[in-house]
Amino acid sequence: METVIDIKHLSKSFGQHEVLKDVNFSVQKGEVVCLIGSSGSGKSTLLRCINLLEKPSGGAIIYNGENILDDKHDIEKYRTHLGMVFQQFNLFNNLNVLENCIVGQQKVLKRSKQEASEKALKYLKVVGMEKYQHAKPRQLSGGQKQRVAIARALAMDPDVMLFDEPTSALDPEMVGEVLKVMRTLAAEGNTMLIVTHEMEFAREVADRVVFMDKGVIVEEGAPEQVLADPKHDRTKEFLKRTL
Ligand code: ADP
Ligand code: MG
Repeated sequence: METVIDIKHLSKSFGQHEVLKDVNFSVQKGEVVCLIGSSGSGKSTLLRCINLLEKPSGGAIIYNGENILDDKHDIEKYRTHLGMVFQQFNLFNNLNVLENCIVGQQKVLKRSKQEASEKALKYLKVVGMEKYQHAKPRQLSGGQKQRVAIARALAMDPDVMLFDEPTSALDPEMVGEVLKVMRTLAAEGNTMLIVTHEMEFAREVADRVVFMDKGVIVEEGAPEQVLADPKHDRTKEFLKRTL
């Protein structure tokens, strides 16, 4: 197996508050990893450290055999290999759907408008939003916005997609359409690290489930093991509260 990202002894503190403590785990190529845990356990901080929106306090993030936390490393270049999907979509409201999906490709990857548009349309089709290419974000539902955000991330040809609770801000009737797209991506072999509260989705789609509590990875393993037969009391408690 080919390791895409290898996290070693990662720690993060905000002042005196140690939010991540000696976190170790890796994501393999083609693998779907679901990260679960109570609110405040450090899941978002972990994702934000992986894409360097937060600066880790210690440890290493190995990508392509190199520690990207080394001073010499080109952070901007590294970031282009990660696709990020946030709870709040973060679309550019002044741009239409297609423009949202091409601007990063042009600016960051220096693709021509033609090439960027073709890529964008390819992935807008994947998420079922090509008909809306000329719409502005305000004309879309939350589920549609999130599907556009996913297409935008995919258009950058990332090595790994990071999702931070992509359905948590959605009305219940829109959760399904976004999870459906994510199921398709998983089935097509995309490498995905997904923070989610959707346990049924995790059970179905994850190759591996990682349970985090108070900044520590408590246990990880196959979904049928962690979700159905957890070893640790903290995991049992958490699952009792969510199921
Ligand atoms: P989760 O995503 O699992 O709900 P977070 O990673 O958002 O958890 O937060 C973990 C802890 O870190 C929380 O106690 C939160 O208040 C704290 N935290 C997160 N971001 C910051 C920040 N920028 N400054 C200070 N504390 C933060
Ligand atoms: Mg969070």
